[in-house]
Amino acid sequence: MIIDCHTHLNRYTPDLPPTLAARHAALGAQMDAHGIEHALVLTSYTVNADRPSAEEILAQVADDPRISVIAGIDATRLDARQLDALRALLQAGRIRGLKLYPGYQWFELNTPELHPFYRLAGEFGVPVMIHTGDTYTHTARVRYTHPLAVDDVAVDFRGTTFVICHLGNPWMVDAMQVIYKNENVLGDICGLTLGEFQPRYERLALRMVDDVIAFINDPAKLMFGSDWPISDIASYLRFVDRLELTDEEREGLLWRNAARIFRLPVGEGAA
Ligand SMILES: [Zn+2]
Repeated sequence: MIIDCHTHLNRYTPDLPPTLAARHAALGAQMDAHGIEHALVLTSYTVNADRPSAEEILAQVADDPRISVIAGIDATRLDARQLDALRALLQAGRIRGLKLYPGYQWFELNTPELHPFYRLAGEFGVPVMIHTGDTYTHTARVRYTHPLAVDDVAVDFRGTTFVICHLGNPWMVDAMQVIYKNENVLGDICGLTLGEFQPRYERLALRMVDDVIAFINDPAKLMFGSDWPISDIASYLRFVDRLELTDEEREGLLWRNAARIFRLPVGEGAA
């Protein structure tokens, strides 16, 4: 069983299909080709012709039980109105998590304006995913993407679950300490490469992620995600094959942890 906890239906480059329906079909084909049972689709912090809103994605995947949606948050407009809209989506059970993009939007995670948002996530038991580490655009500021910043909010909001996306790459030493230390923090290993892994970089990434796995030493803390279409899923699954994982850690990484924290309808106890 495999759950991909981090994919997108944005049109990042002109070679991706122009319609949302075609990108959704492309994701489905990738899932079929690689035996992926369920995928989380994360929406952007902004909405434009290439980046559909959470509502648009929810409508697109409404009849697809293999897809769940994580709502990307525009943290620059997190006013009472947006919080009410999020509350309505959460109450209806339509979204499984929330995503923040501090490097792209230049904000501190522990800013007081975000505190009601973290409480809302805790109230509904949905994880807050946070982009950490390297960014896709040169206009992002990586000062805001350091994984240590997640420790602050994890300590202040113990009832909220946080996901350090991309393991803070390349600040994985910091990410692994924050994941290890906080019961309410997990990490996803996605998006460590653009497209396929190149051999020399893959060796480096394997060493770094193997260190994270050994240090954390807990099968309940890491999750597989690809970051498709930014990263190639086949190449990513080969990367996962090469990681030094116990059987229990591999199962936790590939699906069990995502199924648990996002409460996905898969595996044991599924309806
Ligand atoms: Zn991503």
